[in-house]
Amino acid sequence: MPHITTVVIGAGQAGLAMSYCLSELLVDHVVIERGKVAQRWRSQSWDSLTLLTPNWMTRLPGFQYDGDDPDGFMSVSDLIGFFDRYAAVSRAPIVSDTSVIRVVRPGERFRVITDRGGWSADSVVIATGYCDLPAVPSASLGLSTSIAQLAPSNYRRPEQLPPGGVLIVGASATGVQLADEIQQSGRQVTLAVGRHLRLPRTYRGRDILWWLDRLGVLDKSVDAVHSIDVSRHQPSLQLVGRADRSSLDVGILQEHGVRLVGRVRDISGYQVRLADDLIASTAAADIKMAEILSRIDRHIAANELAADDPEPFRSTWPRTENSPERLDLKSEGIETVIWATGCRRAYPWLQIPVLDRRGEIVHDGGFTPAFGLYVLGMNFQRRRNSSFIDGVGGDAWKIAEQIASSVAGVRVA
Ligand SMILES: Cc1cc2nc3c(=O)[nH]c(=O)nc-3n(C[C@H](O)[C@H](O)[C@H](O)COP(=O)(O)OP(=O)(O)OC[C@H]3O[C@@H](n4cnc5c(N)ncnc54)[C@H](O)[C@@H]3O)c2cc1C
Repeated sequence: MPHITTVVIGAGQAGLAMSYCLSELLVDHVVIERGKVAQRWRSQSWDSLTLLTPNWMTRLPGFQYDGDDPDGFMSVSDLIGFFDRYAAVSRAPIVSDTSVIRVVRPGERFRVITDRGGWSADSVVIATGYCDLPAVPSASLGLSTSIAQLAPSNYRRPEQLPPGGVLIVGASATGVQLADEIQQSGRQVTLAVGRHLRLPRTYRGRDILWWLDRLGVLDKSVDAVHSIDVSRHQPSLQLVGRADRSSLDVGILQEHGVRLVGRVRDISGYQVRLADDLIASTAAADIKMAEILSRIDRHIAANELAADDPEPFRSTWPRTENSPERLDLKSEGIETVIWATGCRRAYPWLQIPVLDRRGEIVHDGGFTPAFGLYVLGMNFQRRRNSSFIDGVGGDAWKIAEQIASSVAGVRVA
């Protein structure tokens, strides 16, 4: 079995950023990828998906967007091209079409076993993605087998779905984008709305993420938030990246004909029991949005920035009354349920005791309790944008510096 200093598992943005930082610090390593570079984007994206972060936020260590449309939003094929170029320019030592099937540490060194051989290594970086598998609630088990159900990672386009109405569960970025596309294709969409965050695409003449970046919201550190557990479980923003910079949220969907209902509680056959929480969750999202927009207003005033006048505030909750407590899928003509309920991770190949009782890797900023074992790309790993393209680089540098110091025999505090 060949020996190498570091094995990186996964060649998405996290694995590529890690490889760049290790190369800069002259650490010999290999990146093992079960598919091709950016495999997740290649195989688990719907056709119309674009990034919701503007191009200027596509920044990785040593490489960033340099096209002529910094305020635009990349399509998935452009993004894959971007990652392919990054891998080529940084000469990432990628071993593709190779799956890691076991990681053990029988002695001082790790052994990384793949379906095509293995490596012995002093350190291992797990970069297999925060959104590895769909998190589908147990209510799905009660659904009649004659209703099709799928996760967003298996959705490509509306024509793929059986005829009839569609129930989408979850109103974060993915849920609202799919609801809009499927409703516009001529089907009736019902959207089960739980806790959510909404913001306009632009505010006072600037992209909303430009303001959040300027306010330091996106790179807020773990130490600066009240509860890291609460922050890690916040839903993603209701946003979409379109050339016309239009907003997309539950209020707009309702105007487009989407029917809004409360959270799904349980399902038995065709009967879906719903929570009576639609007004509460839309009102909470309205309050949160008002809070963020007024922070931006205060920032503009305090810094005497040139900005457009504030747009009138559009609240959603007064229009969300009378949500039903039950939905009969058969009588409503609903033939498909899409679970836009987030993602989870599983590490059946990791045979080192660093998992908590929920199966998550225990870590502090990506450093696990097993010396030499790291994880990268987790949600709010060190900063709010740790799992974004724009944020993974800072965390990768920290881990690379630790690995390089270990090689030199120094442990970084
Ligand atoms: C729908 C969606 C839209 C998003 N939009 C944005 C956006 O607009 N802007 C933004 O900044 N972020 C966005 N994100 C968040 C983030 O950028 C992505 O989740 C991104 O894919 C994370 O990159 P990663 O490298 O951490 O993980 P991944 O891209 O998931 O890469 C992990 C890699 O590991 C490989 N792998 C897994 N297991 C093994 C194994 N056992 N052996 C070998 N290889 C393995 C996989 O094949 C994969 O290539 C979005 C996420 C989703 C789901």
